[in-house]
Amino acid sequence: MNAIPKRDSIGETCVVCEIPKDKGIHLYTSFICTDCETDMIQTETNHPNYKFYLKQLRKVTQPTIFS
Ligand SMILES: [Zn+2]
Repeated sequence: MNAIPKRDSIGETCVVCEIPKDKGIHLYTSFICTDCETDMIQTETNHPNYKFYLKQLRKVTQPTIFS
């Protein structure tokens, strides 16, 4: 009887910043918020942050396999 109502209005959790956001895009089955999308586009490929984005995005292209 202690069920907490699920709030759908918060949006989805971004795979990059891992923060629930209500604005963003879907990539495969994952969600990327508008902030991260913009940051990624503006980040140079030789910038240290770019590696972080790639690492986070690797989770998108490699879905979890239950073994
Ligand atoms: Zn994000």
